[in-house]
Amino acid sequence: MINLLDFDREGLKRWCVEQGEKPFRATQLFRWIHQRGVADVAQMTDLAKSWRNKLQGLAAVLPLGIVSEEVSHDGTIKWLLDVGAGDAVETVFIPEDDRGTLCVSSQAGCAVACRFCSTGHQGFSRNLSTGEILAQLWHAEHYLRRRLGLAEGERAITNVVMMGMGEPLQNYSALVPALKAMLDDHGYGLSRRRVTVSTAGVVPMIERLLVDCPVALAVSLHAPDDILREHLVPLNRKYPLAELLAACKAYSAAAPRDFITFEYCMLDGVNDNPEQARALLDLVRDSQVPCKFNLIPFNPFPASGLKRSPRERVVAFADVLQNGGIVTTIRKTRGDDIEAACGQLAGEVQDRTRVQVRLADRRLMPAKVHTQTP
Ligand code: SAH
Ligand code: SF4
Repeated sequence: MINLLDFDREGLKRWCVEQGEKPFRATQLFRWIHQRGVADVAQMTDLAKSWRNKLQGLAAVLPLGIVSEEVSHDGTIKWLLDVGAGDAVETVFIPEDDRGTLCVSSQAGCAVACRFCSTGHQGFSRNLSTGEILAQLWHAEHYLRRRLGLAEGERAITNVVMMGMGEPLQNYSALVPALKAMLDDHGYGLSRRRVTVSTAGVVPMIERLLVDCPVALAVSLHAPDDILREHLVPLNRKYPLAELLAACKAYSAAAPRDFITFEYCMLDGVNDNPEQARALLDLVRDSQVPCKFNLIPFNPFPASGLKRSPRERVVAFADVLQNGGIVTTIRKTRGDDIEAACGQLAGEVQDRTRVQVRLADRRLMPAKVHTQTP
């Protein structure tokens, strides 16, 4: 059975043509699915009867099973969604006065294995398909529209951030069609500035994203130098800071937003002293990347062995950057009572890479991590 959520509109056109149908049929179908939230082909009343009959045996909208829904005291909603074979991913809706943001997962687990991230500690199972990425938005948008009683044409979700479980740029071929459906006027019609890909720094894919589907970019920096960054974000060994910042500079020159957001997770006694803030300021000034900083107070989870920086240290760190002329915000923690905050998403992941074992090794030998670097 073909999953109709697996396509952007171009892909759906190609598929319709393969079935001997006119390309405009794809746009009709796409609007029923994404704009109106209809899954049942029988209800798509303006499709030709013969086409509807043909579709019913051939293709369907395959939503994800909802394992649980939790609502935080601040209105944040977290869904645990079943993707089969013992894996489940999380999707989070964060309501604010002037917007509704959906935090979407791109993988079951993550192979990057950042020290401070709950998903990274779980290991990696597999990439999500385009249909599984879009099913998160499809469910949340249409469910919320019904629940909030929104009129036709009103949107519950105004912003999407690829900041759930997984490294989106390590699942590039499934990500791009999903982004295109989010931007499509016949789909969710989101502006490029309101769709953000967050990455730990997969340099070649940053370069490709600019060509294939430029959207807002957030880069998880977390350290002012390669030695500390390698320790926190192992991917830095492959793509060190100089290369990463050069890719950011190239991206910002043509991106829909004229700045890159650098995310920086504030870890007590690890990366949060004022000297490190000054080093960071020098680093980004030298690189000439137009940027803003978003400091994320570390959200603890069992087994991390790390602590959140005290509030005054976060504020002092922000001041150094701010006084250096870089716009800096401190991210508000949302949904932490239901473990929906940044870095707390864990879902259910069958680790097929033994990341957990590798992390345990590293925890026992922190000194070795430092001396190994040239
Ligand atoms: N893989 C991508 C996107 C998912 S993580 C990335 O790393 O950018 C989304 C954001 O949450 C990243 O900036 C990440 O560094 C941050 N994060 C991860 N674990 C965290 C934690 N425990 N506390 C606070 N932020 C965390
Ligand atoms: Fe993966 Fe991002 Fe978590 Fe790092 S922070 S382990 S890249 S999800």
